[in-house]
Amino acid sequence: MKLVFATNNAHKLEEIRKAAGDDIEILSLRDIGFEGDIPETGNTLEINSYQKASYIHSWSGENCFADDTGLEIDALGGEPGVFSARYAGEDGNSEKNVALVLEKMKNHSQTSARFKTVITLILDGKVYYFTGVVEGNIIRERRGTSGFGYDPIFVPQGFDKTFAELPLETKNEISHRGIASRKLVAFLKKYTGK
Ligand code: IMP
Repeated sequence: MKLVFATNNAHKLEEIRKAAGDDIEILSLRDIGFEGDIPETGNTLEINSYQKASYIHSWSGENCFADDTGLEIDALGGEPGVFSARYAGEDGNSEKNVALVLEKMKNHSQTSARFKTVITLILDGKVYYFTGVVEGNIIRERRGTSGFGYDPIFVPQGFDKTFAELPLETKNEISHRGIASRKLVAFLKKYTGK
């Protein structure tokens, strides 16, 4: 089976290819020659991941999937949520996004938060959703250097280290994206009978 993953993110591709094994070939946007921008205009993770998957499905005619992730912080009413990538503005970056969260959290004692990933799969004309959630807490200052995005300020439940301090294998085992990806792969293996 051949499937397009609507991303060029090397880490995401490596992670899912490892989990998928040899029977499921995962192609990137680069592999199918897609060089444009995919619109991402929804106000939920579900809508955005569907939008990306259906855009690439229409463009390529291939079975495909896309993911969208957000960090939901309870004290901030669920922000940055679907705007996680551009919380500090369109010209922002992870450094600025994290700084903005730390600034906004100064006045709050409640620190609970979660990462959520939604994967949308379009397979033989049908749409399927797979969700992964990891609960945790936001800390007051950055800790750790691995990972990316909000990893240095997120401590997953049951651990005393941030995602940026934990080994990548541990993060992948418990993370939002790891959980959603494993659900997707389990479904595909059942679907293909492998
Ligand atoms: P995307 O939908 O995977 O592109 O994620 C949107 C944004 O959420 C990214 O730009 C990151 O800021 C943040 N994010 C997604 N996954 C993670 C993660 O595993 N750790 C930390 N931040 C993440």
